[in-house]
Amino acid sequence: MAYVDDVYTRLVQQNPAQPEFHQAVKEVLETIRPAVEANEERYRQLALLERLTTPDRQLLFRVPWVDDQGQVQVNNGYRVEFNNALGPYKGGLRLHPTVNLGILKFLGFEQIFKNALTTLPIGGAKGGSDFDPKGKSDREIMAFCQSFMTELYKYIGADIDVPAGDIGTGAREVGYLFGQYKRLTNRFEGVLTGKGLAWGGSLVRTEATGYGLLYLVEALLASQGQDLQGKTVTVSGAGNVAIYAVEKAQQLGAKVVTVSDSSGWVYDPAGIDVALLKEVKEQRRERLTAYASAREGATYHDGRGVWTVATDIALPCATQNELDLTDAQALVANGVQVVAEGANMPTTLEATTYLQEQGVAFLPGKAANAGGVAVSALEMSQNSERLYWSLAEVDAKLRQIMQDIFTNITTTATEYGVSGNYVAGANIASFLKVAGAMEAQGV
Ligand code: GLU
Repeated sequence: MAYVDDVYTRLVQQNPAQPEFHQAVKEVLETIRPAVEANEERYRQLALLERLTTPDRQLLFRVPWVDDQGQVQVNNGYRVEFNNALGPYKGGLRLHPTVNLGILKFLGFEQIFKNALTTLPIGGAKGGSDFDPKGKSDREIMAFCQSFMTELYKYIGADIDVPAGDIGTGAREVGYLFGQYKRLTNRFEGVLTGKGLAWGGSLVRTEATGYGLLYLVEALLASQGQDLQGKTVTVSGAGNVAIYAVEKAQQLGAKVVTVSDSSGWVYDPAGIDVALLKEVKEQRRERLTAYASAREGATYHDGRGVWTVATDIALPCATQNELDLTDAQALVANGVQVVAEGANMPTTLEATTYLQEQGVAFLPGKAANAGGVAVSALEMSQNSERLYWSLAEVDAKLRQIMQDIFTNITTTATEYGVSGNYVAGANIASFLKVAGAMEAQGV
């Protein structure tokens, strides 16, 4: 059996009941096949793929906290430090009831490759908890964050492991986590990214994932002699990635007609009012029903449905496996030309393959949502030199990084005979970089 198949079979046996982790590894192993085959014996002898698919360290800890009724609650806390061949472990903290070790291993694994594509010196990690921030008071959020950090602080540091935001973790949570790290260690250092602008944060970090997504789409369209002017765009999600994807798409001349949350979605034929969206989601922390009732012409629909709307460009920005084969078929039937993943692995393997077979340009999350972690790495640089860079400087660097990612994944795909397959291009380019570093650093 080929080395990649051996590795995958063993991984599934050794990591039972972790379907998202299996899925993420399968996609990578299938697409890096030609690069592995070129050096199969050496990689096998070095057990390179076994090492790459096994986290360096998996931390699992108890997070006790007191709720507003005086009741002690207990959640699971996790940090998966997956690979630090290229730099300190780097990746967000997800707070969501669906979080478990398998989900964080998939996310940590993806992060290795995504971070490698940014060209910046960062390894891959992910963490979080099954804590559900929904409906919690500000004090409860603080109590949880402080308890979480009371264990995590032992394992992280500006040159060791630098967590950040993800689903459920935004500026408020990063603030509480940072405050507790500082209290426990007496160190003011760049141990987290996504910090407030007054205390070490970077301009453009809030917007970075959504903006970066559009910069990559822009680079793709430019390669076809097109731009975003006049294009119709559908977006799923209404969190940090979705909001700034909508904003940048509209700045670049497109019309975004949908957003969604966990209960339903909004169709706004005149184009999403991004100021209202921000007010509802970021300030009032309300559901999208509040958006629809405040906006003339917009309609709210229960359940799923974003991918049934006719569009040129679809941007899944909600969560993993939110776009399946049926959705992909509906998108193709409605004439979609580009699908770019703002979330991590929002498209199932079957849907991805179908879209590629139908000639849709498919930009995988590892490339398409790398802008967030790229600006996190720029925040780390600014913290190291104890300086702040201007908005224009950070934004220009982000745009350049996304353009360079497009060039890198395009040329790599062509070099390996799979021209136009951006999934393969992204996986092969980042694999070769990480594998080379691992080999150089020995066992
Ligand atoms: N959670 C984001 C991601 O999935 C950002 C991670 C970071 O900034 O470290 O890439």
